[in-house]
Amino acid sequence: MDELSKSGAKSAPKFAADRMLARLARWLRLLGADVLFDPQVGGDKLLGRARAEGRITLTRDKRLRTAPDALYLDANLFRDQLREVLAHFPFDPRCRAFTRCSHCNEPLAEAARDTVVHRVPPFVYASQERFARCPRCGRVYWGATHPERIRRELDSMGL
Ligand SMILES: [Zn+2]
Repeated sequence: MDELSKSGAKSAPKFAADRMLARLARWLRLLGADVLFDPQVGGDKLLGRARAEGRITLTRDKRLRTAPDALYLDANLFRDQLREVLAHFPFDPRCRAFTRCSHCNEPLAEAARDTVVHRVPPFVYASQERFARCPRCGRVYWGATHPERIRRELDSMGL
């Protein structure tokens, strides 16, 4: 695999997030966790699919409160939800950040600088050396903006 995804020491657990947890799912992916998120699938179906794939189900569905392999999240705000997830399933949110596409959960691949020239704003191209691309949706990520925002956010959450 590429350099970006080799850097993580301890790999994050795999999750499945229910449709109420879209924002949390995006954030967990930004932090490098493998998160199944499909708004079409809910309840028992989600639980079944998560189990089959060895994932922990994250849910706001009270009916799944006592289900094994599921974590019921009481909190409404995604910051509190993220804290709760990390309290139960600790992984270092900093070491694997920026290795996965937040939109499609695909691990990012390093992209040669000259291949992204038309895909990023000129000031970004001028100021950045390293880029990564999602092999599925083609979104381009770069080294400054996204991780900085993530780090700021983690700082503010005390994580
Ligand atoms: Zn993508």
